[in-house]
Amino acid sequence: MADRTLPLAARTSDLIGSIIDSSTSLLASQQHDIVRFAMGAPSDDLMPVELMDRLAARTVPDKYSYGATEGEPDLIDEILKLQAAQGLSGTAERITVTTGAMQGLDLACKLFVDPGDTVIVEGPTYTNGNATALSYGAVPLEAPLDENGLVVEVLPELVAQSGRIPKAIYTIPNFQNPSGVTLSRRRREHLLELAAEWGAVIIDDDPYGMLRFEGASIPSFSEIDPGNPRIFSVRTFSKILAPGLRIGWVDADPSLRPLLVNAKQAMDTCTSVPTQRVVTDFLAGGHLQPHVDRVLGLYHERKNAMRAALERYFGDTARATDPDGGFFLWVTFAESDVDTEALFQTALAEGVAYIPGPAFSATGRFQDSLRLCFATSTPERIDEGVARLKRVLVQR
Ligand code: PMP
Repeated sequence: MADRTLPLAARTSDLIGSIIDSSTSLLASQQHDIVRFAMGAPSDDLMPVELMDRLAARTVPDKYSYGATEGEPDLIDEILKLQAAQGLSGTAERITVTTGAMQGLDLACKLFVDPGDTVIVEGPTYTNGNATALSYGAVPLEAPLDENGLVVEVLPELVAQSGRIPKAIYTIPNFQNPSGVTLSRRRREHLLELAAEWGAVIIDDDPYGMLRFEGASIPSFSEIDPGNPRIFSVRTFSKILAPGLRIGWVDADPSLRPLLVNAKQAMDTCTSVPTQRVVTDFLAGGHLQPHVDRVLGLYHERKNAMRAALERYFGDTARATDPDGGFFLWVTFAESDVDTEALFQTALAEGVAYIPGPAFSATGRFQDSLRLCFATSTPERIDEGVARLKRVLVQR
């Protein structure tokens, strides 16, 4: 607890932190064997470490100087090419390089959220996205999800009940964190209509869109409505390459660029130049797509292994989502007295780690649910981890 005799700002009471991020150090301090379904990151063995090391060793003039706040021009060019390959046209003024997607979310809230503003969030949603909105004094309005993503149809009624027009809608359209579900095209179109009606911005947080391993892809908000200034897209190399690089980007209306630059100058001046260079060279060398193709096959196999293990050990007593990509699936236990927060310590002792459902709720819901990351463990380890999870549930 912070010493409250210090002159702390009122906003410190809205700094809720992230159970997900804390789980990294919690797990690092554990000595025994744990199957790690908690953190959502590519595992070390699936990152192109040697190649990145080689690229990092390259001597480039100015490599260790300050860079442009908006990002290294060569990296912005590569990002535009990457987006063009996904059907998005755009100019350099749309792109601002950020220190991970987290900074993109922070910038979005800094630009659009005043204390007391309503922000629609998905229930469940990504803990840190909700935490960022709260840190700017947002009042989250939690909206339901189903297998086709955010249930956009109910938003007008939810908004009417709340009596407040939302300023922003925070959505993770592809392979949502934590549920793994994907927003349908119809709902994307409908959300664009509602954003226009409310004068709101859509904070389109999409770290997993490139990680589709089955099914047909669904056009992004910007493909559906190119140039719509209400679409503020947050992207990252954390899941498709490596999270420790801390390189992401914002793709937003060019009119916002000066504000984004001013806001970022007050945060970190510029994103780390040496790591921007590594990512630039990785992209320019044509290494990204082959890398993604290689890991996608493994993620697909691992998702199937996790679904099969859940079926084997839990049968009808648990329901799991069936994502077409990304890292996560969401498990809900049939017996409503299951409390995944209360069971977490037993699970650690039993040798399996997950993130309890309430971590993903603005209102503390989803005690009977949890998030599992299938991407980081081999099929054998997944089977072992789910067997351990079953033992935890039996012991309760
Ligand atoms: N948004 C979502 C939905 C995420 O899952 C994550 C990473 N867990 C982030 C943003 C943050 O990404 P980064 O590591 O690039 O800051």
